[in-house]
Amino acid sequence: MTWYTGDQFYDTALIGGFVFAGLIMLASLFGQSAYGRFGGRAPGVSFPPRLGWMLMELPAPLVFAIVYLQGDNRGELVPMLLCGLWMFHYANRGFINPLLMRVFPGSKASFNISVVVFGWIATGLHGYFSAAFISQLSPQFTDAWLSDPRFIIGLGVYAIGFTLNVHSDAVVRNLRPKVPQPNAPRYTIPHGGGFRFVSSPSYLGEMLSWLGFAILTWSLAGVFILLVTMANLVPRALATHGWYKKKFEDYPSDRKALIPYVL
Ligand code: NDP
Repeated sequence: MTWYTGDQFYDTALIGGFVFAGLIMLASLFGQSAYGRFGGRAPGVSFPPRLGWMLMELPAPLVFAIVYLQGDNRGELVPMLLCGLWMFHYANRGFINPLLMRVFPGSKASFNISVVVFGWIATGLHGYFSAAFISQLSPQFTDAWLSDPRFIIGLGVYAIGFTLNVHSDAVVRNLRPKVPQPNAPRYTIPHGGGFRFVSSPSYLGEMLSWLGFAILTWSLAGVFILLVTMANLVPRALATHGWYKKKFEDYPSDRKALIPYVL
């Protein structure tokens, strides 16, 4: 154990983390993070999307690995499995998805530095909260945790969310040709999978993934990242839905923004 994985420091940092989540919620009422379809207008340096994503997500595995390896329980089965799940998620978010992404030729620098900086705070805090909790502060993570209903239900929710997220990301990716075509439009209407019901199924999948993680770890670290993700993605999903309806006259009228049949 180190000074930063002790109960008192951890609890104080968690309070700071929840204040930060509240600030993100407030900020997202005034506008969307400046990347993708909402990027390009923000002041300051902007990165190509692939680089922006990789930079932004980098603190997550780094901070997680450093803190995890200080924990007394780092060699136990359940903490190692949770570490694996966490790294798996961020390998997809920070490396695989950015590498697979098909960048539109005219949007080469659309990932604003403000998104990267706020992302660093969020992913760094999440790395710390989760790793300290999993490898140091959770005596309940014995082998018996694997048959606990919270673990089983949470893992199921995570798997559904992750599958929906990855499938939806693949659908939008395939809307663009592998090799950029001179007159191809930047955006077209996605169809199939979760898009039959909502405009942002990947965001719904991301939120379900973190809901599952919060349940399967039964932790405030999980609640923290769920709140940060919702603060980012609920307003962005609503804005994306409005953007689609405005851009495409033939946009499916029965499609909701984020939650099938509801929102
Ligand atoms: P988007 O679906 O907006 O964009 C993903 C990629 O698809 C981009 O390359 C985008 O291009 C392209 N694209 C989007 N819509 C279309 C379309 N209609 N036609 C053609 N191409 C399209 O997702 P995000 O970039 O916002 O997010 C990427 C992943 O990261 C998602 O899985 C999301 O859930 C996750 N995420 C998680 C967050 C969290 O807080 N945990 C926060 C934000 C995202 P372009 O860049 O040109 O718009």
